[in-house]
Amino acid sequence: MHRLVRGARTLLPIALLVPVFADAQAPAASHSRTDTAFEREFGDKFLAAYWELNPDYAISVGFYRVADRLLVPDDASRAAELAFVDRWQTRLRRIKPEMLNDSNRADWVLLDNEFEGTRWALTQQRSWAWNPANYNVAEPFAVLMNTEYAPLEQRLRTILRRLENVPAYYAAAKGSIARPTREHTQLAAEQNRGALAVFGEEMQKLAAGSALPERERALFEQRRLAALAAIEDFVSWLEQLDQQLDREGARPFRLGRELYERKFAYNIQSGNTAEALYKRALQEMERLHTRMDLLADQLWPKYFPNLAPPAERLEKIDQLIGRMSEQHVAREELLDEVRRQIPELEKWVTDKQLVTLDSEKPLEVRVTPEYKRGVAIASIDAPGPYDPKANTYYNVTPLDGFSPERAESFLREYNRWMLPILNIHEAVPGHYVQLVHANKSPSRIKTIFGNGAMIEGWASYAERMMLESGYGDHTAEMWLIYSKWSLRSVCNTILDYSVHVLDMSEMDGKKLLTRFAFQSTEEASAKWRRVQLTSVQLTSYFSGYSAIYDFREQLKRELGEQFDLRRFHEQFLSYGNAPVILIRQLMKPGEKATAP
Ligand code: ZN
Ligand code: ZN
Repeated sequence: MHRLVRGARTLLPIALLVPVFADAQAPAASHSRTDTAFEREFGDKFLAAYWELNPDYAISVGFYRVADRLLVPDDASRAAELAFVDRWQTRLRRIKPEMLNDSNRADWVLLDNEFEGTRWALTQQRSWAWNPANYNVAEPFAVLMNTEYAPLEQRLRTILRRLENVPAYYAAAKGSIARPTREHTQLAAEQNRGALAVFGEEMQKLAAGSALPERERALFEQRRLAALAAIEDFVSWLEQLDQQLDREGARPFRLGRELYERKFAYNIQSGNTAEALYKRALQEMERLHTRMDLLADQLWPKYFPNLAPPAERLEKIDQLIGRMSEQHVAREELLDEVRRQIPELEKWVTDKQLVTLDSEKPLEVRVTPEYKRGVAIASIDAPGPYDPKANTYYNVTPLDGFSPERAESFLREYNRWMLPILNIHEAVPGHYVQLVHANKSPSRIKTIFGNGAMIEGWASYAERMMLESGYGDHTAEMWLIYSKWSLRSVCNTILDYSVHVLDMSEMDGKKLLTRFAFQSTEEASAKWRRVQLTSVQLTSYFSGYSAIYDFREQLKRELGEQFDLRRFHEQFLSYGNAPVILIRQLMKPGEKATAP
């Protein structure tokens, strides 16, 4: 529901925090010779080499110089990637991080983590062998067709060169896959079936109607058809593979404790274990239930004047939320209501001096473009580090295609109190405001190798911070619905860890979501599917949120009267998408790293 659309890398965005701050008491000079050396080595020179090996990710961040390359995912390309990591990590470690200024030191840590994590993913996790959903060529082609970064003919020539490798790409994919999970095999078949649409009529018409010479148009058509054939062949190969796995046994989708903890360390970079976060989430669930119980007692007579509440607290809360959810916008008013709320949120944030907004970077609310639909109902579409002047869009997917029942269920979920929380999370002062601040940081490294837990954590922190500032008038309704929303990220953490490490069953998983987090059976089914297909990512919301909240509370205690909320927010956001643990160290130079 609240996924940030910024393109996915083939490899996971990974990082491991290492204790490099032994000398943190001695603040580095603001710009030393070491800084100059670091910036020369790990500026454009490093990135140019990186993009050569990661052209899909390059396209997703708006760097098109390598866009005509489609890498063939075979042993040779994986070996090249490993060699790249070894080479650049050696160069990086020749530079002493304690000699760098804050910003460069953060970049150093992010890069070192990226190298460690990539090596681990290629050699230990090896999802390239067991997750066939890694293989799909569609998205970068769709971006090249739909983004007017260059004249049409130039883009078509880029697509033409890229198309050439599609058959080799899928041949290499087949050669790489070995005893995958059934869940990822089925997902890959489904998603590649969806990919066929990108190479269909629209692409054909685009080329046929262009000013390309006849010879090139013919070659384009030939390669387009070959790409279609390769994808179709891959899909039927996957379908056969799935039957074979059914007979002969597949890899289990559960990651297991060891891989899970390592992946958590690289991806989340909280300095703590997944197990510790899981235990904290269990406590938080109990705290929220206790709070909701009290709020429900207050609200019950207002919504059920002539009815005694059920004795069981979860039952009582569930019935009350059900009644309150009747207050929602009509389906055709959804987009207008979002449009109305954004300026209201902006005014609140400015009046209450919560964080400075940039009036030169307006947020445009729009209907989600067709080719981006299907993942989230609302998302922020932000310009990448190579095109910071481009517009930022708040995509809202209209409910046009929904059945009346499905639309109703959606509108009840995003009821009168929940819809503003969604807008806070996605837009103001959540993802959109964070991204505007992050783009001011001159470091491309922090944008490109940024930490997902910090990004999701900030958006989640922003929700609570807004309510604390009085948005929603401190009504019991607002806090109750907010608590339900919080239970979603808390239970995401519990579910993810329980499923991948503790062998939680499907029945227990769905019970956790429907009974303890008050979700619909439809939402619980979708989440069950997601937890089978992903791991660790679902913990990023709660992990980032709790780290930011704890840090703020600690600073408030230490600084007392001197604590200034806006100053805290702006300094916090000024480090780009660095992990929270690193921001803490940079904001409090005396604090030692607590690395795993
Ligand atoms: Zn989000
Ligand atoms: Zn209704």
